[in-house]
Amino acid sequence: MRFRREPNANRNFPTHCPYCAGEALFPDATSDFAWKCTECLRIFEVKFYGQDAPDHAPAPAKSTEQALQESLARHGHVAVLRKEK
Ligand SMILES: [Zn+2]
Repeated sequence: MRFRREPNANRNFPTHCPYCAGEALFPDATSDFAWKCTECLRIFEVKFYGQDAPDHAPAPAKSTEQALQESLARHGHVAVLRKEK
């Protein structure tokens, strides 16, 4: 298959027009990211720029072994705890 121009892998696919919520959207030749709403005739772009870092990142998850050992120690089952090397 030959394309008139190469597909844009970064093009996003909106499901609704941001102005009228219409669903009849088609790619537009205005730019590589443009979409045309056939209901309100607006042409708009949808781009993904990246993901912002959270203000408070969650703590890294403990391993199953580490969580089990801490739970056993918390509930007083010290006889079955693994010995630290
Ligand atoms: Zn629209």
